[in-house]
Amino acid sequence: MAGIVIKPRARIFHGHEWVYASEIKKSFGDPKPGDVISLKDYKDRPLGSAIYNPHSQIVARRFSRRKQELDTDFFARRIQRALEWRQSIGNISTDLCRILWSESDGLPGVVIDRYGNHVVLQTLTLAMDQRVDSIAAAIQQTLSPEGIVLRNDNPVRKAEGLSPEIRVITGTDPEPRRFILGNISLGVDLIGGQKTGLYLDQLDNYPLIAEYAKGRRVLDCFTNQGGFALHAAAGNAASVIGVDSSHAALATAQANANESGLSNVTWLEANVFDNLKERQSQAEQFGLIILDPPSFTRNKRSLNDAIRGYKEIHLRALKMIEPGGVLVTFTCSHHVSRRAFLEMIRDAAVDAKRTLRQVDTYHQRADHPINPSIPETEYLHGLAFEVIPAW
Ligand code: SAH
Repeated sequence: MAGIVIKPRARIFHGHEWVYASEIKKSFGDPKPGDVISLKDYKDRPLGSAIYNPHSQIVARRFSRRKQELDTDFFARRIQRALEWRQSIGNISTDLCRILWSESDGLPGVVIDRYGNHVVLQTLTLAMDQRVDSIAAAIQQTLSPEGIVLRNDNPVRKAEGLSPEIRVITGTDPEPRRFILGNISLGVDLIGGQKTGLYLDQLDNYPLIAEYAKGRRVLDCFTNQGGFALHAAAGNAASVIGVDSSHAALATAQANANESGLSNVTWLEANVFDNLKERQSQAEQFGLIILDPPSFTRNKRSLNDAIRGYKEIHLRALKMIEPGGVLVTFTCSHHVSRRAFLEMIRDAAVDAKRTLRQVDTYHQRADHPINPSIPETEYLHGLAFEVIPAW
């Protein structure tokens, strides 16, 4: 097997599974892009098997500490193991679930989501993209879905030299369908919706914010299909406004409200930055504001711009929260650490002249497991603050 020799002190010796170009001492056996290669340390000791893409910043991603080929049997074993773990943690329905999540489940660049009897597959690395058919066969063996949809429109594919593609791999064409979460009905379009249909990582957090909504005016910024807004409405908010720039997402949000029998919620298609500015100029007040923006940065270089963007919306939101009201806020960029996020909020509170009390923390749902040696696997940080009355 062709492979690479890794320099001492590389991150792989500290538990990470990635090898960057600067960490490679030399390659041997002429590995080709997308190949399975073997990794060795400088004393020629084997470190395991990895997928290889010399055109990506991350040249190799280890998926086994042994000598291992990528075949349907192996894929099926990894999927089965990921499924069984999710079944064992109890509080998650594996019917509406991320069944397998990339590095965290030992298949770098493979994401498998189950929406009832359909499965959505993403292949985000070159090697896995070359093996789509084999992965689909393994999904069929282990999960027996009625159909498998390939949702390869995730922009991270660009870093691996892959272009966007959406198609049904096998089985029936998925019709838009509904799932019931608590007492909320959520519409899911596996072909046309954002991500693979829903923001699965947030599902557990929706009901948690409902307790802050009771009797209050609520503003849900970046509402998408209304996950937070609908739960706030069901939690007896006085009124709820959901804001998003996506017309299609809001159409689903409206249908969700109708299906859930909720009438105390309205939807607004707007840019949140402009909308918050406008509301602030009209001195509007809210008892609960939720901020769940998209990732403002895909790399470290634009981190400062991202922080500036986060700060602007936090500053405006904090100024509009009435005393005793609550701000619930999330970042989904792994480049923004919980600490950096908190520092930004602290700065915004200083400028807004508000004193805060931290009342809650939120995380990505357990079907997006965190590997502590791979910090990139922890990407969703959420915090709730009460704006305490002046003293
Ligand atoms: N809270 C949602 C997920 C939000 S994802 C949930 O739990 O389901 C981010 C959302 O922000 C997307 O729906 C996207 O359409 C929207 N968006 C991105 N930039 C925006 C902007 N500048 N103004 C308003 N909405 C924006």
